[in-house]
Order: sequence, then structure tokens, then C-alpha cells
Amino acid sequence: MRPFRPAFPATALLAVALAGTLAGCTDRETSTSAPQGDAVASTSPDPAAASASETHPDVHRFRIGDLEAAVLRDGDIRVPNDGSTIAVGQPKADVDALLAAAGQPTDILQLGVQALLVRSGDRVLLFDTGAGDAEFADAGRLPQSLRAAGVAPGEVTDIVISHAHPDHVGGLLDGDGRAVFADATVHLSAPEWQALQADAARAALVAAIAPRVDAFAPGAEVLPGVTAVPVEGHTPGHSAYEIVAGGERLLYIGDSAHHHVVSVQRPHWTIQFDGDAPVAEASREALLARAADSGVTVQSPHFPFPGLGRIVRRDDGFAWVPLE
Ligand SMILES: [Zn+2]
Repeated sequence: MRPFRPAFPATALLAVALAGTLAGCTDRETSTSAPQGDAVASTSPDPAAASASETHPDVHRFRIGDLEAAVLRDGDIRVPNDGSTIAVGQPKADVDALLAAAGQPTDILQLGVQALLVRSGDRVLLFDTGAGDAEFADAGRLPQSLRAAGVAPGEVTDIVISHAHPDHVGGLLDGDGRAVFADATVHLSAPEWQALQADAARAALVAAIAPRVDAFAPGAEVLPGVTAVPVEGHTPGHSAYEIVAGGERLLYIGDSAHHHVVSVQRPHWTIQFDGDAPVAEASREALLARAADSGVTVQSPHFPFPGLGRIVRRDDGFAWVPLE
């Protein structure tokens, strides 16, 4: 993986110009003391505006071989470190010690929420869609992050879903229940789709995406160069994805691990979100081992933004090493 200068050129510049215009309007509406006239300069597609888009705090651009990619921030999830959600049932002193040794706070466990954008030929792929307006998350920024990356929702051709939990499919519908990515095919594994359809509480989501769903067999090559990796135990059809391009590989791990310290260093500590905890714990350890032993670059939707790095073996377990 190496940084790259974006090649979403015309669209990106237009998006920057529009964003500048919109931001300027909002500023003027909310601040009566703002000087008039600034908005004129902000609409110019000048080099300064373009460089601002390259360093947008919610967009991390990188490459997978010859493919352009970007991690898009959606928000955060904070859960109390009280043994109820992550490291369920573990003595708090043990969890605190693990977190403190990694320089992390011990009062809350903070998870990022982010989606992965990949441009492959004439296709625009989005891996998961963030939490939308889910109450348990401070999220829903994906649409703005996507536009900051120079992509309109209608340009997304393929949504690749790891699993149907609300913090991964929440961005599929807007606040009025309408499909956000109206033209995109929605890829998810057949058992995940089956379970989603069986959940009466999710009927609106099922109805909105059903005509565009591609329910694939676990482990299938979903799109050219994109292969599902079944990771069992979290949900009925949870999938990681391996993306191969130009001699490089990226492993999108979905919810194989949630917290970059606790889940990686203690893969057998129970996580309340796992549907079948013993199976999920074994799957987590196996995927961490695969990532560590292959040296593949990993992207996580929940590790600290942008969630890009590597898993390494340390002592008798694993550790997360973020990319610089
Ligand atoms: Zn999740």
C-alpha cells in the first residue's frame, strides 16, 4: 500500500467546489457576523481547494496495487468498559491492564465506524455502509465522506456487505427509508441474506434492496479480484473479503475483530455482538493467524481510523500495527 494522489479528478474538483459552496452557505446562515463575499472565493476550483480535499480528515486515500481506494469515516461507537459488551465476564483489572499497556483509556472502549471505497475499472465498490442513524452510534457521516472523496452515491455500482448488523448496513437507507445507493448491486452471502429476510423487524430494508441483491455462496469470488472469506460465528453468513490487484492484497476483516487491542490480543475474550461466541472466537483467532502469517495488509471497519495496518504475532498472541 502506498499513498497516492487521487485520480477522481473532475468529480473531485466539482465536489470540492460544491462542498465549499454548501459550507459557505451554512456558515453564513448560522453566523450572522460572517463577512459577506467569502463564498465567491470558496467556489473557485483552485489548487488550494483540491489539496484540501486530498487531506480531508474523514477520507484516507491509498492504493491496492493499481486500484484507487479510500477509507471513509462514518463515526464512532463508544461502549463502557464494564464487561457487558467487549471482554464479557473478564475481570475488569485484567482488561484495564491490557488497555493501559497499550496506552488506551480504561473507562470506555472506542470503536471507529468506517467504510472502504475501491474504484476498479468502471466499477465503484463500497464495502459496508456504516451505521446511518443507528442510536447506539455517533455516526452517519458516510454520505459526506463519500462526497469529500469525489463520489456521488449514484456512482456506486456495488455494495459489498460483510454482514447485516445495523452498523454495517445502516447507511443503505436514508432517514426517510429510501435507498441511498439506488443503482448499486448489493452483494452479501446467501446465509446472511436468508437470515436478514427472516427478521421481520428488517422488512423495510429487505424490501428496499431485494431487487438488487446478489446473494453469493460463502467463499465465492464476488467480483473480479474480490473474494469472500467466510468467518463464522458473528452472524449466520459473516464474510471478510480479500481484494487482489496488481500484485497487492488487502484483507477487509469486517467484524472478525472489533477492538484493535482487546480483540486482537485476546481473541478468545467474548464479545457480546458475536452470535455464536465459541465459534466466533475460534474464527477470530484463525483469521488473525492467517493475516499475521501472510503479512497481508488489513483494513478494519472498527479499528481506529483509517483502520489500515497489519497483524503481527507477539508473545503467544497477536498485536495490531497500524500503517504509518
Ligand atoms: Zn460492526
